[in-house]
Amino acid sequence: MPHIQQLDAHVADLIAAGEVVERPASVVKELVENTIDAGASAVVVEIQRGGMGLIRVTDNGCGIAPEELPTAFLRHATSKLRCEEDLGKIGTLGFRGEALAAISAVSRVDILTRRPGTDLGARLHLEGGVAGAVEEAGAPEGTTIIVRDLFYNTPARLKFMRKDSAETAAVSGLMQHLALSHPDISFKFIKDGAEALHTPGDGKLDSAIYAALGREFARSLVPVEGRGGEAAVTGFVTKPLLGRGSRSMQVFFVNGRFIKSQLLTAALEEGYRNQIMKGKFPGCVLSVTLPVTAVDVNVHPAKTQVKFAREREVFDAVYHTVLDCLDRDGAPAPAPKPAGETVNPRQDFFQSMDARSFRQRAEATASKPAVPPRPQPRPAAPARPAFDSEAPGRMARVADSAPEKQPYRAAFRPVEKVSIGKPPASVAEPPGKAAAPGPEKAEKPPRPFVPAIPRQQTLDLPEQQTIEPPKEAPWRIAGEVLHTYIVCESEDGCVWLIDKHAAHERMNFDRLKAAQEPPMRQTLLQPVAAELGREDAALLLENREALERFGFACEDFGDGTILVREVPADIDAADTAATLEEFAEKLRTGRSPAEKREGLLHTMACKAAIKGGWTSDPAELRVLVDKVQSGEVKYCPHGRPVAVKLTKYELEKMFKRV
Ligand code: ADP
Ligand code: MG
Repeated sequence: MPHIQQLDAHVADLIAAGEVVERPASVVKELVENTIDAGASAVVVEIQRGGMGLIRVTDNGCGIAPEELPTAFLRHATSKLRCEEDLGKIGTLGFRGEALAAISAVSRVDILTRRPGTDLGARLHLEGGVAGAVEEAGAPEGTTIIVRDLFYNTPARLKFMRKDSAETAAVSGLMQHLALSHPDISFKFIKDGAEALHTPGDGKLDSAIYAALGREFARSLVPVEGRGGEAAVTGFVTKPLLGRGSRSMQVFFVNGRFIKSQLLTAALEEGYRNQIMKGKFPGCVLSVTLPVTAVDVNVHPAKTQVKFAREREVFDAVYHTVLDCLDRDGAPAPAPKPAGETVNPRQDFFQSMDARSFRQRAEATASKPAVPPRPQPRPAAPARPAFDSEAPGRMARVADSAPEKQPYRAAFRPVEKVSIGKPPASVAEPPGKAAAPGPEKAEKPPRPFVPAIPRQQTLDLPEQQTIEPPKEAPWRIAGEVLHTYIVCESEDGCVWLIDKHAAHERMNFDRLKAAQEPPMRQTLLQPVAAELGREDAALLLENREALERFGFACEDFGDGTILVREVPADIDAADTAATLEEFAEKLRTGRSPAEKREGLLHTMACKAAIKGGWTSDPAELRVLVDKVQSGEVKYCPHGRPVAVKLTKYELEKMFKRV
């Protein structure tokens, strides 16, 4: 065994630095937190090569006195804490006195600072933690810190750095959070010479949200305000109908500090229970304010987690604030869908249909007016399924008081002629009152969503798929209930309930998994601009090749927006952004390449599946039933059963016949 020795100070510093400075974003976080603690009202952050080349943070805060400058870079040197007692009531973002020491230990640092009211400033250069001499210098009021060549003396850490684009994205995401945490400070973020974020610093959270997270997200929000016990909750949450594909847009602050907290996530989501679609998540920018003694921030070196003294109280405050606001907003009741929308709007399911009838449908559709009349919203009266006289044997969803019966609309969607630049009414403005937009100059030109036009629609006939006839007599389809479950009867007298979405999802999953060829694509007449947030966008762009293989042609559109020009033929273009959002989530959470691929396949299979709530054509139902009967489709890709069997005996028992 080697002898036990105390590490020399330099090695100990490098180890300690590793805890605080993990990547460029952690440097930016610490430096910007210092500017906030210094009382700055304007902060400029500039990075080059994801922060690996240079990080410059400038503020107009209180500055550092020249004689204290070297002390600021010593470990455990801080102006924010004096004694043990102070640890229990931390009101500043920093308190550990470690950041400047840690950063300077693994980089080359220059600092220039002047305290307001003094004539002369000072500068200092440090390299690998070793400080030069403090020099007098003219300087603007406040502090500028430049960090160069991060990790130049720790090659092991350097090896673990991801691509510059990923580091840039991490810093961008962080800057968003910092800007949102302090709407009273104007933040400017410049990456590789281009301005990427600029908040007005007018003290209004909605202006900061607009500038940092984009117009579309800002418009999906409603304000919330409430309190419970000692906790005050303010901010914005998404309207339930505008839930998101992942939790990436859940932003929480506690006493002005961005934190990750399962407790707050759970409280928020509990507020949305039964109000948001399954698989969708609320987004938010929520700020919780507590007395400094009611929260412990000293639980994580990067200070991204906190411990609440009274967890239940905080949970209840957030939960009730969200719930009350959603109740008041009247948002929970889903808006009535236009009658036409209950019909499966997908044009690609008919793999069992023969080419002739496919072509007939295509021709029939083409002869219709190019712009179909916009479906009227269904009256509030409850809809009931009815048999339609024009198409005997086919189920249609018809409102009792509808002036005319809606004939079954072919699942083949007519090609819509679209006027470019004018979004369809249904997507132009989400219902409800929109969050106040920020300054006009930040407005991007409108990016209308335009429905996809399948490429060469009449030529790309789906291949006919032969389905093995089941050995036993095919199950009789008795009907469909709740627009979700197919009711069948088997020859041996059992009743089967099939979840049509789950069954179709499984079919898609198996097909995609086995596919050798890339999927058929549709070119969008006008590309969809998906505003995903900077981190998600960078993650997806890093995996652009994988997306290509799945049939998505994507480009970077800047500012966390991805421009999608092509999507797989079996994905509805309106689902593009949601699909990409889910992709990002799967890429983030997948622990191995195989798990990530599987995750992407799940998303594709789900998005391409017919949905519960759509009225399906009997031909669609037949395909699904045969697949389930043959035993090919048993569980959905998430492991849930696709079919439930009720034997005759079980039924008779229920009715006390036996
Ligand atoms: P902490 O923030 O935990 O106190 P740091 O190592 O981040 O520790 O900073 C050490 C000290 O340097 C701070 O306590 C503060 O007094 C001073 N300081 C750092 N950055 C700034 C700044 N931008 N403006 C004014 N003072 C600063
Ligand atoms: Mg600090």
